[in-house]
Amino acid sequence: MSYIIGKACIGCIDMGCLKVCPVDCIHGPIKNDDSGKGALNLSEEEKEGKQLYINPNDCINCGACISECPVDAIYRTETEAIALGDSDSVYKNYEFFGLKFN
Ligand code: SF4
Repeated sequence: MSYIIGKACIGCIDMGCLKVCPVDCIHGPIKNDDSGKGALNLSEEEKEGKQLYINPNDCINCGACISECPVDAIYRTETEAIALGDSDSVYKNYEFFGLKFN
């Protein structure tokens, strides 16, 4: 079980979540291991179609990221994301780290 970043992050990439995650498990939008450093210099135009992702193997489900997201893009579980109609984001979060959601 992991927190999941949903489609509301696409084009936003606020990065507030990155600053509070105690285990640095939020990455992207380009590299899956740089804690979002690749997002720092993106222009608004370059952010289009891109988002951040949570590594489901490393997330400790602490909840610290939730209140930092200005667009409420973060789900507490895969089940919550799917129930709210955003299953695509569950698969995308897993695939970004070379993982498969079952
Ligand atoms: Fe990081 Fe905690 Fe959010 Fe998981 S729930 S992504 S560990 S801040």
